[in-house]
Parts: sequence; C-alpha cells; structure tokens
Amino acid sequence: MEYFSAHQPEAETELHYENPYQLLVAVILSAQCTDKRINQVTPRLFERYPDAKSLSEATPEEVLEYTRSVSYPSNKSKHLVGMAQKLVREFNSIVPSSIEDLQKMPGVGRKTANVIASVIFNAPAMAVDTHVFRVSNRIGLTRNARTPLAVEKQLVKNLPKDKIHIAHHWLILHGRYVCLARNPKCQSCPLHDICKYYQHSQTETELLKVEKSKAKKVIELKRKQLAAKTVRFQKNFKAG
Ligand code: SF4
Repeated sequence: MEYFSAHQPEAETELHYENPYQLLVAVILSAQCTDKRINQVTPRLFERYPDAKSLSEATPEEVLEYTRSVSYPSNKSKHLVGMAQKLVREFNSIVPSSIEDLQKMPGVGRKTANVIASVIFNAPAMAVDTHVFRVSNRIGLTRNARTPLAVEKQLVKNLPKDKIHIAHHWLILHGRYVCLARNPKCQSCPLHDICKYYQHSQTETELLKVEKSKAKKVIELKRKQLAAKTVRFQKNFKAG
C-alpha cells in the first residue's frame, strides 16, 4: 500500500469512457480481451449508440458490425443489447450502483459489477480478474485462495476500506506491466523484498546450488575412487 500510494497515487482504468453507460459497455466487451483492443473499438460504437436507448433499439447483428474484432463478438453483442434493454426498462437508463442490480443485466457478472461499483461509485468492491488473482497470490496478500471469489473476500477483509477501489487498479497494472504471467520481472520489481513468490524462488535457487555442489563433490570422489582402482588393477596385472 505504501509503495503504490507513493508511486501510483492516480491509478485508474485504462479503458476509455466518458460516462457510466460507456464504462459498462467497455467492461462487458473487455472480458478476455485487452483494454487496448476495446479502446480501438468503442469510439465508433459510442458514436453510433451514444446511450442506452439507442443501443436497446439495435439488433445484436447490427452491433456485431462494430464489435467483430473483440473476443466472443456474437455473445458480447447480444449481451450489450440485452443489457441496454434492461437498463432502459428497469433502471430508467441509469446505471445502478448496487452490485446485485448490476448483476441482473446480461453480460454482467460479479467482476464487471465490482468494476462499475468501484470505478463509478467508489464502492469498496474488489473486482478480481486474472491479474489481481495472480499478483495477490504471488505477493502473499491472499493465502490458499483458489477462486476469484476467495481472493476477493480475503482482499476486501484485509485491505483498508478506503484503498480497495484503487488497490484494484494497482494490482491490475502491476500484473500487466511487471508481474507478468509467464516471466515476472522480479529483479526490477520494487516489491520483491516482501513477495512470497520471490522469496520462495530464491530459496529454490539456493537449494539447487547446494544440491549441485553436493553432486559435484560426489562425482569427484567417485572419479578418484575409480582412478585408484584402475592403478591397483594395473599393478596387480603387472605383478601377476
Ligand atoms: S517479485 Fe516477482 S512475483 Fe513478486 S510481485 Fe514482483 S514481479 Fe511479481
């Protein structure tokens, strides 16, 4: 918390949006897709469908024309239209603040609802995506948390309430740029002194070194024993 508060006091979502409706659309589209890709797609989409009403009157096929390059475009287009219809019908076109209400809309799961609640309404909600899940487990902010919900609960329980909404962005950005899934940049990571994963990997490296040096000694001993045996054999051969 201290490190991120000092170095990234302004962390926020990398999705481009101007109002809650646009963020909701962008977050639905961003599932299993990159923010960069979504930011390429949404300007045209928002121009054509500037509000929930216009989107609610479209067909999924029409919306698909604007979403083709994102992952799962057909499903997401259906979800967008369904979400807009529900928003217009049941919420007077106003994005609700409650996580329960948000989850009533097509395409809005717990993670999306938490993003909207925390980004738009500053609620102490922790959306757990793949980055938050991985980074929290690696650093040791969570213990034996095997599901996104378990990670969410542990983080919400242990982080200061007023920091939860920004901690979500800190963990995402750290996972996206430093603590990468395949090759985490531990050597340059400012958190390696407190990171459980790093400490563990260092211990493993040390153990490996010790094992290697032990193995070397055994091989050297065997080599000497073999050489001595050969000399003895040659002496006996000559004598015999
Ligand atoms: S030390 Fe490595 S594993 Fe730990 S948070 Fe930093 S990058 Fe991730």
